[in-house]
Amino acid sequence: MFHLPTRIFFGSGALQEASDHIFKLGSKALLVSGKRSAKASGALDDVTKLLKGFAIPFAHFDQVPQNPDLDTIMAGAQLLRQEQCDYVIAIGGGSPIDAAKAMALVAANALQRSQIYRIELFRNALPLVAIPTTSGTGSEVTQYSVLTNPDTGIKAGFGHDLAFPRLAICDPVYTHSLDCEVSLNTALDALSHLLEGIYSNKRQALADPLIHAGARDIFENLKAVLQNPAHISGREKLMRASLYGGITIAQGSTTLQHSLGYPLTSKFGTPHGLSNALVMLPVMKLFAPARKAELDALFAALNMDMDGFAAWLESLNLPPAPVLEDEFIAKSVQEVLGSRNMANNPLEVSAEQIRRIYQELR
Ligand code: NAP
Ligand code: ZN
Repeated sequence: MFHLPTRIFFGSGALQEASDHIFKLGSKALLVSGKRSAKASGALDDVTKLLKGFAIPFAHFDQVPQNPDLDTIMAGAQLLRQEQCDYVIAIGGGSPIDAAKAMALVAANALQRSQIYRIELFRNALPLVAIPTTSGTGSEVTQYSVLTNPDTGIKAGFGHDLAFPRLAICDPVYTHSLDCEVSLNTALDALSHLLEGIYSNKRQALADPLIHAGARDIFENLKAVLQNPAHISGREKLMRASLYGGITIAQGSTTLQHSLGYPLTSKFGTPHGLSNALVMLPVMKLFAPARKAELDALFAALNMDMDGFAAWLESLNLPPAPVLEDEFIAKSVQEVLGSRNMANNPLEVSAEQIRRIYQELR
């Protein structure tokens, strides 16, 4: 089954094009963002101008940190109730969009902090508009929200159809203000999603053309964008690749690659996309026997082979992995084995294989 309930507006002027649909969602909006990016991207000004122009009231929660945690969700949901907002507009990268999804669910279902992952309690959600300002997570078209529990330090996601945004408003101009580091890390996250669309045992072959086109967009445009952050067509292609990655994981979810990355982010603060990229090649080698035909088809579309792929990754000069002590590896192996995404791998993955991948990063 291929399921995508989100209405997508893509390209220059997407916000204007979506405006009638936004106004139908409710009577007062809560804008959800991080501290700086909503403003820096220009999206916040555009949204507030639009709402003010039509005299639509709104409140603004601008306290979403990177890798949002449960306390942030409860604070945002409290403001939602206090301000009597009846829909949510998330502006930012995956962090504000994921946080807004959880806030919309907490508020609509009167959830306690301890119930945020209890998807069986979800009955409703406030409508959500997602306006991405990064080209990476594809969260604007997924049913996932990835949060960190500060009590355990564990980063984990939930997925529920009610978490799909109603509208995704994707205007590449909002990514022109991204610095090189975030541009690189987020593009690698999008690439991870596309690859996991090949690995996942829930994969939908219908997504293959999106996977091939998205990967090609990244290979052909990432370096040009890193050299010139305002590269208009390159930014558009990276945003499209991210959207395709989101549509892909909305069908088949993520796999070992994301499970391996989460502990690096929660323990060392390694950015999400970089965490995935650091384990990308070993995961590809591990899964290649189970996905030979699909990887061959991808590489044919990219006009390269796995060695060429490895050389391309190498040429990006990624920062080295953090120093991984034995104690961290032992704890993370258990965390990875217990992660939800491990049910989607194309073959059985052992504790020893996970340990080896972490050890080889050292
Ligand atoms: P992010 O954490 O949302 O943002 C990273 C940094 O970039 C922040 O400092 C942010 O600033 C800044 N930024 C964002 N847009 C900007 C712009 N246009 N100009 C300048 N700065 C900008 O990064 P992300 O990679 O998009 O999201 C990562 C999160 O999404 C992780 O928690 C990950 O687990 C999750 N994720 C979710 C899904 C899903 O399907 N739901 C999939 C993959 C990953 P501010 O702090 O000011 O916002
Ligand atoms: Zn991701």
